[in-house]
Amino acid sequence: MNDTRGGFVATINGPMQCASNGKTPHPTDSSPIDVARIRAAVREILEAIGEDPDRDGLQDTPSRVAKMYAEVFSGLHNDPRIHLKKTFEVDHEELVLQRDIEFSTFCEHHFLPFSGKAHIAYLPTGRVVGLSKLARVVEGIARRPQVQERMTQQIADLIEEELAPRGVLVVIDAVHSCMTIRGVKKPGTSCVTTSARGLYQTNLTARAEVLSLINGLR
Ligand SMILES: [Zn+2]
Repeated sequence: MNDTRGGFVATINGPMQCASNGKTPHPTDSSPIDVARIRAAVREILEAIGEDPDRDGLQDTPSRVAKMYAEVFSGLHNDPRIHLKKTFEVDHEELVLQRDIEFSTFCEHHFLPFSGKAHIAYLPTGRVVGLSKLARVVEGIARRPQVQERMTQQIADLIEEELAPRGVLVVIDAVHSCMTIRGVKKPGTSCVTTSARGLYQTNLTARAEVLSLINGLR
């Protein structure tokens, strides 16, 4: 996969490389995330903001943050494409829509979380993927520093490439804490992004059907 939008470049068999620095993950660790280095960096930040990293409440904070980062950024070292490799033949070429796939990720601009729901629609051509796998794709793509626009496109691209459907429409609705706790401080705003492939790019009726189903039939 050749990601030109600044995302993570992942291959299924080969080593993975981070597109931002071109380095392979830390070679000596069993986990490619360098937890000791994160611990030291968090301690440094605490000192830089004028805190005492050795005071009671903060002593374990660098370790906690390092463990959390290893978890929330684990997607950098896993390829979400594998979840779409096992498909099933079915006699169904109409809409498949998975709504309300909840996710949380980190805005790469501010390193603050944003979270919301992803909705994935596709029109299969005789082959479908297990429904839980779509949620796993969202989860894998969310576990990296992200921007919502790219995340929406990456999900649509993966489904298009692996399932070759007649159309894909991905809708993400998320609340960004970098909008609510800093800067313009606008709680209650949410951001909706869509990414369409195939038939959904041109067929506005098909697109409208998906959008009404996302909001309706509750
Ligand atoms: Zn942000």
